[in-house]
Amino acid sequence: MIDQLSVESIPPLLGASRSQLADWAQGYQQPAYRGQQVHQWIYQKGVRSLSEITVLPKQWRTEIADIPVGRSQIFHRSAAQDGTVKYLLKLADGQIIETVGIPTQKRLTVCVSSQVGCPMACDFCATGKGQYQRNLACHEIVDQVLTVQEDFQQRVGNVVFMGMGEPLLNLGQVLAAVRSLNQDIGIGQRSLTVSTVGIPQQILKLAQYQLQITLAVSLHASNQRIRAQLVPSGQHYPLDQLLQDCRTYVAKTGRRVTFEYIVLSGVNDQTAHALELAHHLRGFQSHVNLIPYNPISEVDYQRPTQKQLQHFLSCLQDQHITASIRRSRGLDKDAACGQLRAKTIIDQAST
Ligand code: SAH
Repeated sequence: MIDQLSVESIPPLLGASRSQLADWAQGYQQPAYRGQQVHQWIYQKGVRSLSEITVLPKQWRTEIADIPVGRSQIFHRSAAQDGTVKYLLKLADGQIIETVGIPTQKRLTVCVSSQVGCPMACDFCATGKGQYQRNLACHEIVDQVLTVQEDFQQRVGNVVFMGMGEPLLNLGQVLAAVRSLNQDIGIGQRSLTVSTVGIPQQILKLAQYQLQITLAVSLHASNQRIRAQLVPSGQHYPLDQLLQDCRTYVAKTGRRVTFEYIVLSGVNDQTAHALELAHHLRGFQSHVNLIPYNPISEVDYQRPTQKQLQHFLSCLQDQHITASIRRSRGLDKDAACGQLRAKTIIDQAST
């Protein structure tokens, strides 16, 4: 039992940099290049156990065999008709998270979770209807990308932090994962997107790192009143303040911000809303992503028609606001934005 405890408390290696692994190997009186071999086998070859690294000296391999790499198990996999694949991944403590692989003709995008569940409780989002459990550790985020890469047998081109959870409530581990995805797996910073509903002070904190990643902000409304209804946390982070912080982010990083706007028929999709939104964003280095509402069972919002969406888009464009409509992927498998909720799928899987 005591032995087991000590094994469990060894931190997993996934998420460690090349130089950290070199130092780690030297701690075992091994030359630094042994750590670099471990780096290559973990990130490029995707080994799940150090005992698989056959280039290491046998004796040392036996000594380190119990140190966890930090990989999860695929608990359930479901492929939608458009090729999108949703995974339920089982973590070392038995918690289940969701990850989505989204192939396009050009590249493979992975939508990763940053928490188990989500405490933000946005009214239209399935994840927020379940229980929030905990933050993910860096290795649990990086693992999601390796898992999808391995399953698709294709290099991952983009990673979006748009799965379960609120990344800016887990900024330390998310930043560690961003570093690892960028430097260990080799995904360009510009191909990494962190999506947030907005947490006071955290956008400013992120800005200080001056990363080249894309910040996406879930705006969803053109005024404080509607936003506070849809996004409860918005009651404590007024729209004006959120937009002000986004402006500071643009000024500090030189990167435009993406605003996500979930379009709910009859709620926030009227011409007046588009004009109000345009007024807020005039001259703002940003891009608006319109997301048609993906239905979830707990609430009876309506998905807008293509015509309504197009009208809203044209209103924004007439006001010289850069905007586009995001195509929903994986809808038939509840893998689209806002439809992630591990529990229901587990229930379905076991029936
Ligand atoms: N907590 C972060 C990351 C989750 S991202 C955030 O809120 O940004 C999830 C994205 O999907 C967000 O833009 C979210 O608002 C959107 N979304 C949530 N529920 C949705 C639904 N039912 N239909 C369409 N988009 C939804």
